[in-house]
Amino acid sequence: MDGGEIMDCIFCSIADGSIPADKIYEDDNMVVFKDLNPQAPIHLLAIPKAHISSNNEVNSENSFVIGKIFEVIAKIAKEQGFYEDGYRIVNNCGVHGGQTVGHLHYHVLAGRNLQWPPG
Ligand code: AMP
Ligand code: ZN
Repeated sequence: MDGGEIMDCIFCSIADGSIPADKIYEDDNMVVFKDLNPQAPIHLLAIPKAHISSNNEVNSENSFVIGKIFEVIAKIAKEQGFYEDGYRIVNNCGVHGGQTVGHLHYHVLAGRNLQWPPG
């Protein structure tokens, strides 16, 4: 069912505007918005508009959007001034990865010195 809106998917609803989010970027294929529960001074989520449930569902037909997402993240980093200091892009996949929303998303964390490894 990838490619269409999935009923009851919160990030599909953000993508189509039916529930509000603090969007900082949008085009035909993707949206970037602020995470509701920020884990760093800057915590953004970058998502494809198409419903891709996790990294496991990325394939040759939908993967173009991933490159686009990373390109837009670099542009936002420059515009918002965290390009020089650096940032972290995270994708949680599945239960062991800590994924809680079943629509592919990339966390963008910035504005503090992030620790490694994650817990
Ligand atoms: P993950 O645990 O990787 O699946 O991340 C899901 C993220 O989505 C969490 O950081 C949540 O705080 C965030 N989140 C959930 N619902 C919303 C929402 N309506 N608007 C913005 N961020 C959200
Ligand atoms: Zn979705």
